[in-house]
Amino acid sequence: MTSTMKAMPPVFRFAPSPNGHLHLGHAYSALLNFQRARETGGRLLLRIEDIDAARCRPEFEAAIYEDLAWLGMNWEIPVRRQSEHLADYRAALDKLSALGLVYPAFESRAEIARLVAAREADGPWPRDPDGAPLYPGDSGSRPADERARLMASGMPYALRLDMAAACRRVAGLTWNEFGERHDGERVAARPELWGDVILARKETPTSYHLSVVVDDALQGVSEIVRGQDLFHATSVHRLLQILLGLPEPAYRHHRLICDGEGRKLSKSSQSTGLRALRAAGVTPEGIRQLVGLG
Ligand code: GLU
Repeated sequence: MTSTMKAMPPVFRFAPSPNGHLHLGHAYSALLNFQRARETGGRLLLRIEDIDAARCRPEFEAAIYEDLAWLGMNWEIPVRRQSEHLADYRAALDKLSALGLVYPAFESRAEIARLVAAREADGPWPRDPDGAPLYPGDSGSRPADERARLMASGMPYALRLDMAAACRRVAGLTWNEFGERHDGERVAARPELWGDVILARKETPTSYHLSVVVDDALQGVSEIVRGQDLFHATSVHRLLQILLGLPEPAYRHHRLICDGEGRKLSKSSQSTGLRALRAAGVTPEGIRQLVGLG
């Protein structure tokens, strides 16, 4: 008997946050995803990562659609907007809580800064791969009744992953990397370097790390093409995928587009914004050339 089953097409996604206008770095990432989807006969999804209600704005979202269409891209409809799926992230958080891996931490940002400064007075305090100090507090060891009392009192809190406990459950974690200078080899994940990451806050039942792994799994994303700046975050994503029983995508972290001084572009740097470049007469083909895809 011959099998007529066709392999599923690969699924790609570009996942911008609508907290500013897209720049050349986004264009590069979006176009690489678009190109990979075309080369492989795959599907391309666009996901709007708008969980940060304080910074995301509808006009930036509208501008994303406009800028990507101007670049000549198309993507599947409907677009997933994370703010419309908070229940999915809450369900994942509940699963992690049921494993005993989540605890509320009540320190404000200012208190955390003070605690870090106090610890640094005794010597260097570890920082995560992005350069932020690891969580210095001791909320993880508060007794359950005290946590419950503080939460009931209305105090703000962040829900953090008990990283040591999570790592005890998962050994030898790796991922499959196809990006710069990698050819599909398995890279060792080091989630412990991130400490007790925030998974959610009192008002928002999710965080970047949690929603990205939930959505990539729910949307069947099979190859994640994104900037090298998220390479180390993949360690946390792989850990969450294993803990939540989610499938493992392949990763392709691409080089970053930098400014004249070699710095990573930011949404506030006007001169490399797609809108500014378009207004200055640069064409979509010109953008491709600027990012090395011409
Ligand atoms: N939303 C993230 C950003 O705009 C990208 C997330 C990802 O590709 O995993 O930087």
